[in-house]
Amino acid sequence: KDSGKDNFRFYTPSMNEVFSRHMLLEKGLREALKNNELELYYQPKIHIITGQVVGFEALIRWNHPYLGLVSPAEFIPLAEETGLIIPIGKWVLRSACLQARIWQQQGYSFVKMAVNLSVVQFQDEGLISEIIRVLAETGLAHDSLELEITEGISIDDNQSFLAKLIELKALGIRISIDDFGKGYSSLSYLQKLPIDTLKIDKSFIQGMTSEKGIDLVEAILTIGHQLNLTIVAEGVEEPSQLEMLRRLGCDELQGYLFSKPIPAEAVEEKLIELGQIKYLEHH
Ligand code: C2E
Ligand code: MG
Ligand code: MG
Ligand code: MG
Repeated sequence: KDSGKDNFRFYTPSMNEVFSRHMLLEKGLREALKNNELELYYQPKIHIITGQVVGFEALIRWNHPYLGLVSPAEFIPLAEETGLIIPIGKWVLRSACLQARIWQQQGYSFVKMAVNLSVVQFQDEGLISEIIRVLAETGLAHDSLELEITEGISIDDNQSFLAKLIELKALGIRISIDDFGKGYSSLSYLQKLPIDTLKIDKSFIQGMTSEKGIDLVEAILTIGHQLNLTIVAEGVEEPSQLEMLRRLGCDELQGYLFSKPIPAEAVEEKLIELGQIKYLEHH
C-alpha cells in the first residue's frame, strides 16, 4: 500500500494552499463567536474645541487560532456574504451597549457609544426589536447609542431601509453616515435619510495636503453644518490636520493622533492620558 506516501503528499504546503485563506476564514468565522475569539476594541472621539472625549466607537477584532489577528476589513464582508453578520452584529451591539453602561455607572457619564451596522443587518426583520431589547436590558439611554452605517450598494432608494432608519431615529437613537464622500455615499442621502452625523472618510483627511483637498473638506463641512449635522473627521494622524480641521470648524475628531482603537481594559489609562479624568476613580 502507498497510503503513507499519499498522506505525506496530502499534507505538503503546496496542497495546503488549496485550502484558501478565504475558506479557512469562512469556516472559522462560524465558530468564532462561540469560541470567544471575537473582541471589541474602542476608539475615542474627541470634541475639537474642548478636547474632551465625547464617546467611543466599538470596532470588532477577531483573534483567529492559527491566523492571528484578522482585520474586520477582511472578515466583515465575509460575514455579510454568509449571513453571519446577523449573530455577530447582535453580539457587537449587546457587548458595546453593556460596556458603555458600565463606564457610565463607573462615573464616565460622558460616554456615548457608536456601533457600526452593516446594511445587511437591516434585512433582518428583528433588528429594531433587538436594539430596543438590548437598550432596555443594559439600561443604556437611547441617545447614548449611535449607529454608524456604511453601505456597499446604493441605499437611498431602498424603502424598507429608510423606514427602519426613521423608526430608529424616532426612538432617539442617533444615526451616522460613515466614510462619507467615499464609494457609494452620496449627497442625496443628506436629503433623504434622517441622520445626525457625518463622518468624513479618512482619505479626505489625508488629502488635506493640497489646496483642493482642503477646499473639499471645507465644502463638506459647509454642507453638513447647513443641514445641522455634527461632522466627525476620521483618520486624524497629524497635528497639522488637527489645526486645519479646527480652523475649518469641524466638530469632532477621531484618529491615531489621539488614540488607536484599544481594548476596554486600556480605556481608563487612555482617559487619564487625554486629561479626561484625573485619577483612577474606582480603585
Ligand atoms: P470604520 O467604521 O470607518 O472605522 C474606522 C477604521 O479606521 C478602523 O479600522 C480604525 O481602526 C481605523 N482608524 C482609526 N483611526 C485611524 C487613523 O488615524 N489612521 C488610519 N489609517 N486608520 C485609522 P478597523 O478597526 O480595521 O475597521 C475597519 C472597518 O471594519 C470599519 O471602518 C467598519 O466599516 C468595519 N467594522 C469594524 N467593526 C465593525 C463591527 O462591529 N460591525 C460592522 N458591521 N463593521 C465593523
Ligand atoms: Mg465606523
Ligand atoms: Mg469610517
Ligand atoms: Mg472607514
